[in-house]
Amino acid sequence: MNAQRVVVTGGAGFLGSHLCERLVGEGAEVVCMDNFLTGSPHNVEHLLGRPSFRLVECDLTGFVHVVGDVDLVLHFASAASPVDYMRLPIETLKVGSLGTLHALGLAREKGARFLLASTSEVYGDPLEHPQRETYWGNVNPVGPRSVYDEAKRFAESLTTAYRNSRGADTAIVRIFNTYGPRMRPHDGRAIPTFIRQALGGEPITVAGDGTQTRSVCYVDDTVEGILTLARSGFEGPVNIGNPAEMTVLALAETIRDLVGSRSPIRFVERPVDDPEVRRPDTSLAAARLGWRPRVDVVEGLRRTISWFARELRGPGELVDR
Ligand code: NAD
Repeated sequence: MNAQRVVVTGGAGFLGSHLCERLVGEGAEVVCMDNFLTGSPHNVEHLLGRPSFRLVECDLTGFVHVVGDVDLVLHFASAASPVDYMRLPIETLKVGSLGTLHALGLAREKGARFLLASTSEVYGDPLEHPQRETYWGNVNPVGPRSVYDEAKRFAESLTTAYRNSRGADTAIVRIFNTYGPRMRPHDGRAIPTFIRQALGGEPITVAGDGTQTRSVCYVDDTVEGILTLARSGFEGPVNIGNPAEMTVLALAETIRDLVGSRSPIRFVERPVDDPEVRRPDTSLAAARLGWRPRVDVVEGLRRTISWFARELRGPGELVDR
């Protein structure tokens, strides 16, 4: 399917803004819906003059209405970084539940395909490694991260119920850690934190002893995977992420080297329920979508660092929007 008119919820956030940009570039008409809770109009301001782009301030947990036809709903509204969702626990549960209900309702009303942005966090602190889509996860339902993990698990269940009982055309993508330009320097995620600290000459704060692993995917690869899934008939769930796994300490050191910084590494307390390992098994994405990540971590980090270096005014003046 070549979507003509696309609604992107959470379109003013990090991933959503890249999706909007790519879709507009490909000739689609885009309605970006966002309440700017963790995103900003600044992320899409370069698209505002385009006749095919519309930014609508709207809280997905309330009344949702779009005039005209819609072919595809990409549901990305939700706080995503642990710092954000622990600061906004009820908002996160509400957008994962009510927000998903309303986005599904919109897709159904318009006869549109619906794609849910789910997450590797549905696997929790995984007992299976790497994680395949068939793994059910290891989530603490009353732990501090549960507001996000359980909201996404509920959203997956709701999406599946709409598909099975209402005949909705749906897809679920489980996105693994993605990074790139337009992440907020203070959003608490490892890569923007390390880059901000390295550029500012501050100590780089690594949680625990840094031996926990992450697999990080450059945003262009993630966007390509999401849009390939959206345009396929596949329902998923399907993992999208980069299987190249590295320790958090190695990530910090790589960033420090690429920045050319002399920042020391400082080990800080590890957050509760922080996953020990994280690596997607992407064989399903390769087999069903022909997708695989193309940007290696050094190249992706280089691009991200140069964006941050341009955006941040300089040492001592680091700002967040
Ligand atoms: P982000 O915080 O940058 O973007 C989320 C956007 O949703 C923000 O613009 C925010 O204002 C908006 N939003 C939140 N609540 C809303 C509501 N009630 N109504 C309307 N808009 C609302 O986060 P992101 O990293 O771009 O993540 C986007 C989506 O992708 C999320 O659903 C997240 O769970 C998923 N995801 C992201 C990653 C990643 O590595 N970035 C990994 C897995 C899943």
